Amino acid sequence: MSSVQSDVKCEQCGFPEAWEVFDCGTNEWTVDCPRCGYHESWKHESYFSNGHLERGVNEVLYSAGAYCAKDLETGIKKHGGLPETEVEEVAAKMRDDIASGKLSPESYVPRYNFDTHEVTELVGQVPSGDEAQAEKGRNPMTP
Ligand SMILES: [Zn+2]
Repeated sequence: MSSVQSDVKCEQCGFPEAWEVFDCGTNEWTVDCPRCGYHESWKHESYFSNGHLERGVNEVLYSAGAYCAKDLETGIKKHGGLPETEVEEVAAKMRDDIASGKLSPESYVPRYNFDTHEVTELVGQVPSGDEAQAEKGRNPMTP
């Protein structure tokens, strides 16, 4: 056991099942949202410097989109956030990769609108809170 994972509500889009992971080895804590790409991390590296307590580094990445690329051969899913400038490009490439059979049709790319807080599907089916709840009912994490 090196990390603890739990569900947390996404600060950016409100998705109820963003992943909160605490790594016991590095004392690093991260939140990643599979729906809009929001990412937050916190390193617990507090130390004293010249008599002041320096707290760990908190980094927040407000993404304009996300991607979930599921490899059709290995079944491995890759997730990440995307900056505004890359959303369309990655979406176009993913459409091609799904069409050519490289990626599973379960792959997706959403765009996040900072003004309306809406998540728009560009490619595939982006998870909504309701679906995540239903899936959790079918495959409970804890027995
Ligand atoms: Zn989110």
